[in-house]
Amino acid sequence: MEIKAVSEWSGFQTFPEPTQAKLDVLFGNLNQQNVNTLTILVMGKGGVGKSSIVNSILGERVASVTVFQEEVSTPLMFSRSQGGFTLNVIDTPGLVSGGQVNKQILSSIRSFLLNKTIDVLIYVCRLDAYRVGNLDRDVTKAITDNFGKEIWRRCLVALTHAQFTPPSELDYIEYFAERSEAVLKFISSGACINQQEFQDHGIPVALVENSERCETNGLGEKIVPDGTVWIPNLMEVITGVALNGSGAISVGPKVTDSTLFGKLVFIPMVLVECLLVKLIKLAIDNDIAKETKSF
Ligand code: GDP
Ligand code: MG
Repeated sequence: MEIKAVSEWSGFQTFPEPTQAKLDVLFGNLNQQNVNTLTILVMGKGGVGKSSIVNSILGERVASVTVFQEEVSTPLMFSRSQGGFTLNVIDTPGLVSGGQVNKQILSSIRSFLLNKTIDVLIYVCRLDAYRVGNLDRDVTKAITDNFGKEIWRRCLVALTHAQFTPPSELDYIEYFAERSEAVLKFISSGACINQQEFQDHGIPVALVENSERCETNGLGEKIVPDGTVWIPNLMEVITGVALNGSGAISVGPKVTDSTLFGKLVFIPMVLVECLLVKLIKLAIDNDIAKETKSF
């Protein structure tokens, strides 16, 4: 087996000191719970800021960020270690092309993840998108079909472009709440999670502003309009999901619906068939017995 050395996390030093201190506390907590590796999968439609989030989390420009042209077509994993803690972040291509879910991309992500363990899924959307359509639901449904419903227990939603001014009739907090609700609704629908299940295992939502022009507080840390210092906040939400008690996601070979359905239907069919044959045999035996008697 090839053992790849994990790079030292040089980007960590680029964070302002108070951010570094907060991250150290979070990683220390994870270490105390015997978690010394976190593998984060980043997924979503194209152009929503997936690669930019990967770069923001690592404090390094590792993933290629594009404005107009097609993004990379294969997933890429970036691994960094810092004080005994390893962070793996997986950037993926956008899940939509030509106005519909790209099944090939999804299966390429599946193959890439085969035999890896995913601790957290960051599902990325833009804060500054007003409408949701069937396509959003189709994307989350396709994720569910490929990775199982359980993946949503390990999910958090990141809303990018957080430094955004909502339409005048709504204030920022109200707008954020409405947009979060809309996103969570299409996730619960695509994941076939019922309201009760959904409430029991709420999916957290975090604000993200990847732009270089992101506002900062007096300590040089990037803040979003509601005042949240977003990088340590995002990391705190990530660690919360990683420790929420649900199982991490292990991607195994796909059992297609048809095979599973086939197996489930096949067993009762065989039983019914055996029973029928026995009943018919009994009836025939009975008839023969009657006929013999009547002679
Ligand atoms: P991906 O296709 O989902 O990987 O998206 P990218 O990370 O490549 O970003 C697409 C475009 O959106 C690029 O021009 C980024 O600079 C820009 N972008 C990404 N995130 C943000 C954000 O939070 N705020 C702003 N203003 N621009 C962003
Ligand atoms: Mg990208």
